[in-house]
Amino acid sequence: MYHHLKKLMYTVNVGTPDPRFGNMLLEQFGGANGELAAAMQYSIQGLNCDDPDRKDLLMDIGTEELSHLEVVGTLARMHLKPMKSDRDAAHADPLIAIAGGGGVSLFNSMGNAWTADYLKITGELDVDLRSNIAAEARAKIVYERLIDFCEDPGTIDALQFLMTREITHMKAFTAALESMGKPALSIGRIPPTPELVNQYFNDSTGIGDRGEPDSRGPWNQGGEWKIVDAPAFQELESEKTGTRAANGHSRSEAQMNKSTSAKAEK
Ligand code: MN
Ligand code: MN
Repeated sequence: MYHHLKKLMYTVNVGTPDPRFGNMLLEQFGGANGELAAAMQYSIQGLNCDDPDRKDLLMDIGTEELSHLEVVGTLARMHLKPMKSDRDAAHADPLIAIAGGGGVSLFNSMGNAWTADYLKITGELDVDLRSNIAAEARAKIVYERLIDFCEDPGTIDALQFLMTREITHMKAFTAALESMGKPALSIGRIPPTPELVNQYFNDSTGIGDRGEPDSRGPWNQGGEWKIVDAPAFQELESEKTGTRAANGHSRSEAQMNKSTSAKAEK
């Protein structure tokens, strides 16, 4: 159940409206990482959630995001309003000026319509929480860039509030995920294939023209990692020598183990 309080979650003051900045603000109104996307993603995940504690969290934050939508929409409207009557301002964005009369609508800063395709809803709670942590990180960085491009103190103040709340949400989603007690790489029920899961396919070779390295790091060495060098070339070689698996797509576990040990012998 929703009820509208005729108050903004955070007071919005704009000194001098800046229509071009108002246009950028729309990224957080009708954009991929914007407030409507966040509100819908969390609320609808909440509808699908069978865990009553985390459902409460999803609905709380989903509802707060609707209040953020109201704040950022109000802010954008204040910046865009001159477009309705001022020709110079209207030139900043003809779509908003001519079709929208200087008001906000559910478009991003490039004039693309909001879409449910922005939402990440899998019906698997831990997977959804990971999406939400990433969504909050994206929202945070978009607010930070908006602050960097803004000169109006009142606007910066409201954006600082909204940016901070995204980090609050990131903290809450992270704690909710961790408190589920699932090992970090345990997703779903079916375990990954044991040998295959630890193979790092080194699908690029050598040093690039601008010195791009063939890097090693904790993402491909140490622990259980096994480097498999240039698997595509190995496929080609096995096709030439007629040892490629009959099904074409090949790369059976046996083959990969063979490539790994071949590398180890060098
Ligand atoms: Mn928000
Ligand atoms: Mn948030």
